[in-house]
Amino acid sequence: MPVLAATFRIFNTRTRQVEPVDPVTPGKLRFYSCGPTVYSYAHIGNFRSFLSADLIYRTARAAGLDVSYVTNVTDVGHLTLDDLSDPAGEDRMVKALNSKEGEQFANIWDLARYYTKVLIEDWKSLNLLEPTVRPRATDHIREQISAVQQLLESGHAYETDKGIYFDVSKFAAYGELSGNTDAVELAPTERNIVTDDQKRDSRDFALWKKDSAHLMQWYSPWGWGFPGWHIECSVMSMSYLGEEIDIHAGGEDLIFPHHECEIAQSESLTGKTFARHWVHTRFLQVEGQKMSKRAGNFYTVRDLISPQEEGGRGIDPLAVRMTLMSGHYRKPFNFTFETLKANIRHRQRFEEAMAQVQLAQKQALAGPDELGKPLARLRERAFGAMLDDLNTPEALAAAIEGVKLILSVGKTINASSSASASDWLKTINRLLGIVSAEYEEIKRSEASDFGKKVELLIEERKQARSSRDFTRADAIRDSLSAMGIALMDTPEGVVWKRLSNLD
Ligand code: AMP
Ligand code: ZN
Repeated sequence: MPVLAATFRIFNTRTRQVEPVDPVTPGKLRFYSCGPTVYSYAHIGNFRSFLSADLIYRTARAAGLDVSYVTNVTDVGHLTLDDLSDPAGEDRMVKALNSKEGEQFANIWDLARYYTKVLIEDWKSLNLLEPTVRPRATDHIREQISAVQQLLESGHAYETDKGIYFDVSKFAAYGELSGNTDAVELAPTERNIVTDDQKRDSRDFALWKKDSAHLMQWYSPWGWGFPGWHIECSVMSMSYLGEEIDIHAGGEDLIFPHHECEIAQSESLTGKTFARHWVHTRFLQVEGQKMSKRAGNFYTVRDLISPQEEGGRGIDPLAVRMTLMSGHYRKPFNFTFETLKANIRHRQRFEEAMAQVQLAQKQALAGPDELGKPLARLRERAFGAMLDDLNTPEALAAAIEGVKLILSVGKTINASSSASASDWLKTINRLLGIVSAEYEEIKRSEASDFGKKVELLIEERKQARSSRDFTRADAIRDSLSAMGIALMDTPEGVVWKRLSNLD
């Protein structure tokens, strides 16, 4: 039975209530999610926000919507948070280039390219689906300049010696999204530009910054400079998705000023509602504390998933994904190693269930389908939970229960039950992305030097076993385990995986 798209309900920050997703064009969802500034490796907090976007995408598709999903890469530097106290603050990308890690890059463009590549690798590792378009801010400078020009012409913006500003007094709904209404609360938007005595109102925010000394600069009708941060998302959203979109998402810190400013600019340009639904993910903490390098609880995705020989912890990326999904996106999330360990175990059971299903398909035992009905109920439960404001804890609970059920049938699972189990695993994977990551499999089979060595040892062990030299075979298994490799016997032969140092 097809599910009506209107049953997808999600909280709208603008109206402060859970509302059905009601696309401008029935059956089609236009969705924009703010991506990262590529000045460093993305951390698990960043990825919790990107994961919410991925789950909106997956759920909307499962609900039968034709989704256009755009998420950008901010490859233009913007000022650091510190610039409130340091008005001449460097931007994040320049700061990164000047740091120790920055020494490896020829210039700022090279740095942006490198961290964009890394972002996409981590994205795939955590099994986030590729968006329909992933635009880069620097590919859209022309449109940004043109939008600023239009805002000047329509009287929504003004020029000073230092830049172009949006005149907040010209947009009555300013402050509606964030609920910030008094001038003091709205003032932090000035952080987007150095203090400027010619600014008419401290609430006004920068659309363009004149700066002929900056490392990233473009020529504009106002001379050399670079765009304000907010204008890029307005422009990229409108370029790819049109003037009115259905959902715009990001982390909670983006509600103000970023999204408030995006609304002001875009709606002043078009006179239309820029986005119907605003969805924000609450921040992640680690072991109950704000994540910070100084506190020693700062984790990039790489820190967790890279193999141990590359300095990481070798954790299954999908266990990281499950952990990030284990709390509801609208509640502050506490990432703990206890939860991570529990999810590593859950993931192993998913792997076991898949191996069992593959084995059953080979054995092809006769018998009635014992799993079809109960698994269908669990699939509906997981799907229903996702449609209900992305209730990931409930969806995960249903998925874990399904795996338990499959494993409870044991090795004698018959062909028809295993066909139901196989379908169910595929559907759950499409919805939640936790069963198998295509990308990981590709990476595993890549002929890296390390991989080749492992494959050779596995072959040697196979030969030792076939000539019944079990002492030698065990010794090889031990040396593989010392290399951080675990072997699993499957119907397709021996496969290997990297052990995590939490195993
Ligand atoms: P940035 O690169 O700082 O613009 O951040 C990229 C995305 O990550 C934004 O949507 C932020 O809201 C989000 N983000 C940053 N820190 C966290 C955190 N600790 N928890 C959740 N989301 C975060
Ligand atoms: Zn944005």
